[in-house]
Amino acid sequence: MIKAPDEDSLNPPAPTAAFDRLQAELIECRLCPRLVAWREELSVTKRAAYADHDYWARPVPMLGGPEARLLIIGLAPGAHGSNRTGQMFTGDRSGEWLFRTLHRAGFANRPVAGHRDDGFRLIDAAITAIVRCVPPQNRPTPAERDACASWIEQELDLCRRVEVIVALGGMAFDQTLRIGRRRGWDIPVPKPRFSHGVEVHPGAEAPTIIGCYHPSQQNTFTGKLTESMLDALFDRAAHLIGS
Ligand code: SF4
Repeated sequence: MIKAPDEDSLNPPAPTAAFDRLQAELIECRLCPRLVAWREELSVTKRAAYADHDYWARPVPMLGGPEARLLIIGLAPGAHGSNRTGQMFTGDRSGEWLFRTLHRAGFANRPVAGHRDDGFRLIDAAITAIVRCVPPQNRPTPAERDACASWIEQELDLCRRVEVIVALGGMAFDQTLRIGRRRGWDIPVPKPRFSHGVEVHPGAEAPTIIGCYHPSQQNTFTGKLTESMLDALFDRAAHLIGS
């Protein structure tokens, strides 16, 4: 279970108003024409099971607030998951796995999130992604990935208490290292290779970065990632926080 924050880690105060402004600006972003077209097309074609749903079809904001000490960084919204619900990892199988694990580790008040405003809440944790609009085939181009980096960098400016970052999948891991290097974190050269459980400790002032297999169906259906592997990784993150 996560430890209570000590007095020092409560400073500086979380800049909530600036964070809310940033998220409001983010959801208006239309910088990537291919992704804007795709997110909106999905909201028209829809999956049959969600034919009566109003899709969000905009950039997906961070879930959780700037006071979090654990930051989870995913790849991009799911086509009929968070591109539909407007809430990170909500509405698809990946999220079901992730939220169950977060609840068991003490980072969520419930094991299930179905839609925005249903009472699900993260505890001392936040979830963001390296690309905030759903890409075709789950594959953003390098140009789209780089265009979106400014949003996550602005979030990191405001999330000043983050002690551990869990990066889900190789693309999120590599982008986190790239962004960390730009922020002056002590990222080793050559860059650490992604694997499940790999840890990077980029200096006393920077968060520990942990690589984690993405809880996509490609990994969970094949047994490459099991619930006990996810549990162990988030227990490790909880142990590192405040230690
Ligand atoms: Fe904007 Fe990022 Fe969406 Fe591109 S992917 S339109 S930069 S929010």
